[in-house]
Amino acid sequence: MDFSLTPKQHEIKQLAREFAEREFPKVAKKCDQEEVFDFELIKKACDAGLNGIFIDKAYGGLGYGYLENAFVMEEFWRVDPGLGGALTCVTFGSEMILLFGSENQKRKYLPPLCKGEAISAVGVTEPDAGSDVLAISTRAEKEEDEYIVNGSKMFISNGTVADFFITLCLTNPSSSSKHERHSVLIIEADRPGLERDKLRGKMGIRAHDTARISFNSVRVPGENLIGGEGNGFSCFMAFFNRSRAYVAAQGLGVAQGAFELAVHFVKKRKALRKNLPQFHIAQYKLAEMATWIETARNLVYKAAWNVDRGKIEPALISMSKWYAGEVGVKVVNEALQLHEGYGGLEEYDISRFYRDAKIVEIYEGTKEIEKLVIARQFLRGIN
Ligand SMILES: Cc1cc2nc3c(=O)[nH]c(=O)nc-3n(C[C@H](O)[C@H](O)[C@H](O)COP(=O)(O)OP(=O)(O)OC[C@H]3O[C@@H](n4cnc5c(N)ncnc54)[C@H](O)[C@@H]3O)c2cc1C
Repeated sequence: MDFSLTPKQHEIKQLAREFAEREFPKVAKKCDQEEVFDFELIKKACDAGLNGIFIDKAYGGLGYGYLENAFVMEEFWRVDPGLGGALTCVTFGSEMILLFGSENQKRKYLPPLCKGEAISAVGVTEPDAGSDVLAISTRAEKEEDEYIVNGSKMFISNGTVADFFITLCLTNPSSSSKHERHSVLIIEADRPGLERDKLRGKMGIRAHDTARISFNSVRVPGENLIGGEGNGFSCFMAFFNRSRAYVAAQGLGVAQGAFELAVHFVKKRKALRKNLPQFHIAQYKLAEMATWIETARNLVYKAAWNVDRGKIEPALISMSKWYAGEVGVKVVNEALQLHEGYGGLEEYDISRFYRDAKIVEIYEGTKEIEKLVIARQFLRGIN
């Protein structure tokens, strides 16, 4: 067993760390306070070779794995979760095209994403359906060689900035199997009838665009279907087994960043060190935080490493996503506690980290859903 990173992996991690430390502090507070998406920063990340990490070289990407993508995610979230989310989400959904797209779809949609000339998004959640993916009701009716799409999607990352949406639609409502009623369509944002409204006032990750999308008789060519009609549910289950493996690294990154802020504060704060019982408590807290983070890191790296080797273990992937998300929330909580009253002031980054961390327990599968996936593995065979 070898836990060390390869020289190339070290290089990618270091590149991401240096980029985030150099670029993020210039705009992090502004993007959070004004809830703006920084297009210029995306271009810079592309130029630095930090975009399209896991997309094949044949389609303009860097040809690395989901583990390397997790490294970038971790390093970006360590410095600023909002910007980290916005930057690494630029190619969100490309996993679906890589897994199930036709050669034409790969050649058409992936290269612009890698060059930073297009942004993708994933549309699953609806106002009345999130965790229960089978309840998705956005309707795509076939009319000759087109689909007519009606319905709406909620909480869509990149909603107002995306060029296209990888969208789960109900295409075969009368199929006898509830698992064969949905299909995945690529829906370009400029199609007539598609409307989008930015969701403002989010608690956290405000630099990361989120929107409600409405489809009002949007015409989509049949060639935009991914993975075959009726296969939408299984395509998305496969998709989540890739995306969760690196979204887990967001929890790890926010935890690492918050931990470092706490260490810095404790070292600087003489009053805290003079009060011995208080200093002991601070040390216990730091020790616990460091241990949780190390445990989460091992889990996250192992799950992503396995995915890259074609070993798709939904339970392990869910463990890493649930656990790292929870560690993120626990560590920001303790880190803020160590900052005393100062932690609540906007000028201290920990206040932003505190607001940003929670989302990892909610999107890409809530922590309750992750636990159901884990338990299912051990309860197989029970009706
Ligand atoms: C900032 C942000 C960005 C997002 N980005 C995207 C995106 O890009 N694309 C996209 O499609 N979605 C996106 N989402 C949506 C997100 O994935 C959903 O919010 C999430 O899946 C939960 O769905 P829901 O909100 O409908 O809650 P529900 O599914 O209604 O769940 C509500 C609560 O009930 C619990 N629950 C539900 N079912 C069960 C069950 N069977 N057993 C136990 N507990 C259960 C949940 O864990 C949760 O606590 C985003 C959300 C946010 C907030």
